Amino acid sequence: MTETITNWAGNITYTAKELHRPYSVGAIGSLVAGSARVRVLGSGHSFNEIAEPGPDGVLLSIADLPPVIDVDRTARTVRVSGGVRYAELARTVYAHGLALPNMASLPHISVAGSVATGTHGSGIGNGSLATSVREVELVTADGSVVTVGREDRRFGGAVTSLGALGVVTALTLDLEPSFDVEQHLFTELPLDGLDMAAFETVMSSAYSVSMFTDWGAPGFRQVWLKRRTDQPLPDFPWAAPATEKLHPVPGMPAVNCTEQFGVPGPWHERLPHFRADFTPSSGAEIQSEYLLPREHALAALHAIDAIRATIAPVLQTCEVRLVAADEQWLSPAYGRDTVALHFTWVEDTAAVLPVVRRLEEALAGFEPRPHWGKVFALPAEAVGARYPRLADFRALARELDPEGKFANAFVRDILGA
Ligand SMILES: Cc1cc2nc3c(=O)[nH]c(=O)nc-3n(C[C@H](O)[C@H](O)[C@H](O)COP(=O)(O)OP(=O)(O)OC[C@H]3O[C@@H](n4cnc5c(N)ncnc54)[C@H](O)[C@@H]3O)c2cc1C
Repeated sequence: MTETITNWAGNITYTAKELHRPYSVGAIGSLVAGSARVRVLGSGHSFNEIAEPGPDGVLLSIADLPPVIDVDRTARTVRVSGGVRYAELARTVYAHGLALPNMASLPHISVAGSVATGTHGSGIGNGSLATSVREVELVTADGSVVTVGREDRRFGGAVTSLGALGVVTALTLDLEPSFDVEQHLFTELPLDGLDMAAFETVMSSAYSVSMFTDWGAPGFRQVWLKRRTDQPLPDFPWAAPATEKLHPVPGMPAVNCTEQFGVPGPWHERLPHFRADFTPSSGAEIQSEYLLPREHALAALHAIDAIRATIAPVLQTCEVRLVAADEQWLSPAYGRDTVALHFTWVEDTAAVLPVVRRLEEALAGFEPRPHWGKVFALPAEAVGARYPRLADFRALARELDPEGKFANAFVRDILGA
C-alpha cells in the first residue's frame, strides 16, 4: 500500500497490500469476488487489529459509498448505508421527530463498525447498539448481496459479526419517538459501603448512568446521570452535585463534552458524552474494556480497587456502565445482563500492556468478555470459550464465506478455525 493508514488512535498501522474505496455496492461486489482476502474498515475507532487484513489482503473502506439515510416515519425505522456515522444518522433521525434508543460515548463512529463489535452505551434497560438492528445487507464472499432480517435463522450471527461474514452495505434500525435528556453530574461517590443493592440503585437512577474514576483514590470521581425528561429524576443522595462542568478525563476541557447542569436537549446531544464536532475522549490514548455478568460488578470493582496502585499510573479514566442482555451470538452482552468496565489508558502500549495483563488476572474469576474493538491480552481460545454460540457463528461464517476470505488472523484465532 503506498498510503499509510492507521486507526483513529494511531496505535495500529494497517499492512494491507491494497486499499480500496469503492463508491457503489456493485463495485464492492466485483472487488470482493476478485480478491482472496478482504477486511472492511469503518471509521477506524477500534484499538486492536480487528480490521487488519494482513499484508496479502485488501483493506476496503466504504466511506465513499454514497450516504443513504432513509427514514420511514410510519414504520419507525431507518435504512442507513454502511459508511454512515452516528452523528449524521442521529441528526437526520431527530429531524424526523424520531430517536435511537441509545448511543455510545461518542457519535463519531460508523454504524456498521460499531454494531460489528458490540459497541454500547449505558443504562440498566438499554441493550448494545446492535439491538436496534432489524435487518442487515451484506456483500458476501462471492460478491452477491444477502439480506438477513430478524426472522432469519442467521440473524443471531449477522449483526455483531466482527466483519467476518461480509461487507455490510446497509442496516435497517428500529426507531422510537424523539425524547429529550438532561445530564446531572455528581462527584465523589465512595466504593466502601456500597453493596450490590446500592450499586444497582445508583446505576438505575436514570435512563443512562456512568461512573468514572482514575483509581488514584478509592471510589468514583464522577457520576453522570442522563435523565429522559419524560421520566422522573430520583433523589440522588449518594454523591454531591458537581459545581463545575466536567470532562471524564481529569484536566481535559469540558467544552468537548455534551451540555451538563440539567439543561434539557435532544437525545443525540446528551446520550454521548462527547460533542460531534470536538475530539472525543482525550484523543491521545488506548482503551480496554471488559464486560462481566452484572452480579459480579461489586466484587470486580473491589478486585480492581485492590490493584489501584498498579493501574492509576497509566490510566486516564475508568468508566462503569450497564448493558442489558442481548441475543447476538458474539455480543459481549450475549445472554447476560452486563456491567462494562472500561479503561482509557495513556498512549503508551509498552507501559499499558503489563497493566492490562495484571487487570485481566484480577478479573479472571468474573467471566470477563473483552470488548472486540479494544486492547486485550487474554488468549483467543479463552475469549472464544466465553461464547456459548461460537460454534453456530463458525458454521455461519463457513456457510457465507467457505474460503475464509473475511477471516483475518484476529478472527481466525477467536473462531479457532
Ligand atoms: C474515543 C472512543 C470512544 C469509544 N467509546 C465507546 C463506547 O462508548 N462504547 C463502546 O462500546 N465502544 C466505544 N469505542 C469503541 C468503538 O465503538 C468500536 O471500536 C467500534 O467498532 C468503532 O466503529 P468503527 O466504524 O470505527 O469500526 P472499525 O474500527 O473501523 O472496525 C471495527 C470492526 O468492524 C468491521 N467493520 C466496519 N465496518 C464494516 C462494514 N461496513 N462491514 C463489515 N464489517 C465492518 C471491521 O472490519 C472491524 O472488524 C470507542 C472508541 C473510541 C476511539
